[in-house]
Amino acid sequence: MEPTRSAVHRAVYHVQPMNDEQLLRYSRHILLPEIGVEGQEKLLASSALVIGAGGLGSPAALYLAAAGVGTITLADGDAVDLTNLQRQILHTTESIGRPKAASGREALGKINPEVKVVPLQQRLQAEGLGPLVASSSVVLDCSDNFATRHAVNRACVRHHKPLVSGAAVRFDGQVSVFDLRDDLSPCYHCLFPENAELEEVRCAVMGVFAPLTGIIGAVQAAEALKLLAGAGETLKGRLLILDALAMQWRTVKLAKDPACSRCSGERSSSPRTRPAPCAPR
Ligand SMILES: [Zn+2]
Repeated sequence: MEPTRSAVHRAVYHVQPMNDEQLLRYSRHILLPEIGVEGQEKLLASSALVIGAGGLGSPAALYLAAAGVGTITLADGDAVDLTNLQRQILHTTESIGRPKAASGREALGKINPEVKVVPLQQRLQAEGLGPLVASSSVVLDCSDNFATRHAVNRACVRHHKPLVSGAAVRFDGQVSVFDLRDDLSPCYHCLFPENAELEEVRCAVMGVFAPLTGIIGAVQAAEALKLLAGAGETLKGRLLILDALAMQWRTVKLAKDPACSRCSGERSSSPRTRPAPCAPR
């Protein structure tokens, strides 16, 4: 007897058939032909690394947990501050002073106790990132500084992992996917070279429109879920830019930099100047 497509899929992804409660919990995904039972089982068998449990990481992690991504590693070295609560919807007034990773795990567990949430109370450095990135299906960069962004990019290039990168400051947001499983994909460094003269705009001093982080973080979750379920087309090779004040979106095509010192193996000799991204916390 021929094995069914679902049986083959389960053997490949090492997943159990969903129980009745899961079939109900995820029924609105299962009804989508682009996701269905197989796509949902891929999500359940997947792991996501979310770097930053702030403005972007909050909505991103909430949607990943609600959607049933099997394991979510939530990394953040900060504690919840009163100034965070205007936009960082993972955390509550009662969480002030608590580590964001622990506060985030509690919030995600209340939405979906099935999901395994691993809280990491640390700002990840290059050496700690390698094994975490290597063991994740997808990486979401929801951080707020260039040093972390470039360290995350380096680890994703090295381990050929898809990187969903978001940024938001004032009323300006941007989001893209660097699908580093594909050697032809640009990386974050192709777009924002580490040696370029970039102005690091931190939202601690610049301000940020509360729902802007929700919009960009939710787009990051959508792209991660599509990558994990194998649905649709991602933002690979495209930078999506939002002007929330005018509520206008535009798309810029991204090309791999053949001289990129991160993903092309050749060193760039001429620093370039590009507009700076930022992600608030
Ligand atoms: Zn590159």
